[in-house]
Amino acid sequence: MSQLLEGKTALILGVANRWSLAHAIAQAFQREGARLLLTYQGERLRKSVEELGASLGAARVFECDVTRDEDLAKLTETLATEERLDTVVHSIAFASQADLARPFVETSRDGYLLAQNVSAYSMVAVARAAAGKMTNGGSMMTLTYLGSSRVVTNYNVMGVAKAALEAAVRYLAADLGPQNIRVNAISAGPVKTAAARGIKDFSTVLDAVAAHAPMRRNVTPAEVADLAVFLASDLGRGVTGDVLFADAGYHIMGL
Ligand code: NAP
Repeated sequence: MSQLLEGKTALILGVANRWSLAHAIAQAFQREGARLLLTYQGERLRKSVEELGASLGAARVFECDVTRDEDLAKLTETLATEERLDTVVHSIAFASQADLARPFVETSRDGYLLAQNVSAYSMVAVARAAAGKMTNGGSMMTLTYLGSSRVVTNYNVMGVAKAALEAAVRYLAADLGPQNIRVNAISAGPVKTAAARGIKDFSTVLDAVAAHAPMRRNVTPAEVADLAVFLASDLGRGVTGDVLFADAGYHIMGL
């Protein structure tokens, strides 16, 4: 059977462990024949991400803390040694626990800027670092959440960062479209990951979605990953600047 990403090279940022959405995406991309380049944030994660990379048959695993300009410059240098780059997956977010736990009105300036820097600005910086290498066009994507456009209890400062991220996707899509580079966001339903554990009462969110989503269940990481395959593949060639939902339909529900 032909593979949807055969001959394509994909850069995936945000694999921390085997529960990471980026890990599910890397697995699906491997299944579809992509050459994988994985990054990890810092020395703390090097060994475990290298091990995961080996199990995924990744061609390269290297460090990239998206808050460090020198790491982003190194990213461009590393990509320059690759034959080609077709896809970028940005699966990164961070906010301080304190800012996630307190009412949004109490958000500190530092906490606000931290969430924006790691979770939204980094998409712009990564897109700039990678676009020059995507000479055959390609597909960039990021991961977002419904809390960008609706108020979700305890999502707070991260919801505002995701709103900025989704706006960035639209501006990036407009800038990079003439180079045939598409830029989209996948809005995933809640999934139990390390990042999600930072959100207070996350299990009640999972229960609420399973009770009210049209499909009466939560989405799986593999389902999110298959949407990423679609966007990375030529099947998604007419789609850019958009937010596509993989959430068992939860976002359509009103009362
Ligand atoms: P995850 O496994 O914890 O992934 C988050 C990743 O961001 C980790 O690899 C983390 O690395 C990385 N990161 C944080 N700061 C970084 C930095 N300065 N430089 C480089 N990497 C950094 O959790 P996840 O749920 O898969 O999250 C992936 C994306 O999906 C996030 O954008 C998240 O908001 C989004 N999303 C998640 C859900 C959900 O319910 N899980 C739903 C919708 C959207 P460290 O572990 O080293 O910090």
